Amino acid sequence: SKPVVAIVGRPNVGKSTLFNRIVGNRISIVEDEPSITRDRLYGEGEWLDNHFLVVDTGGLDLDSEAELKDEVRQQAELAIEEAEVVLFVVDGRTGIKPMDREVANLLRRSNKPIILTVNKVDSKELEEKVKYDFYELGLGEPVAISAKHALNTGDLLDEVISHF
Ligand code: GDP
Ligand code: MG
Repeated sequence: SKPVVAIVGRPNVGKSTLFNRIVGNRISIVEDEPSITRDRLYGEGEWLDNHFLVVDTGGLDLDSEAELKDEVRQQAELAIEEAEVVLFVVDGRTGIKPMDREVANLLRRSNKPIILTVNKVDSKELEEKVKYDFYELGLGEPVAISAKHALNTGDLLDEVISHF
């Protein structure tokens, strides 16, 4: 079966934009989902002859901050269990937020490869700064991308398939 690549992170960092960038229109509909997986969308990715499944998380509208935190945490835990590789997406324009640190703490304790993906790095000038800033999350060298403008997403996928 195909390796699974999960995309996790707090809302609005660009997870779905990255998901769409990777899978295009190859979205798989999973029916009869149990409630724990209702907030997940699967698609098929392909890079350099490697075929894999990509999971986007966090599509639900949640009312409270507490509910949201629970949801993000639960999705991260599920990702660690289910995925071969986890893409932890953060926002290079906002910098590190408290919820990023929480998710980072959780992911750091897993044995799965985690790729710290700093999104919204739309220009080269931002790249060095965000790499320096996000390094402190303790998840290794960040990969700076722009999902929206398809910058560096090839390098990201090179790294993803290196873990298969
Ligand atoms: P999600 O909640 O993590 O799934 O985030 P979305 O994919 O829905 O994106 C949230 C917002 O960030 C949207 O307005 C996107 O257009 C924007 N966005 C996503 N990727 C980028 C990027 O690379 N650069 C910039 N400037 N905006 C982005
Ligand atoms: Mg989304």
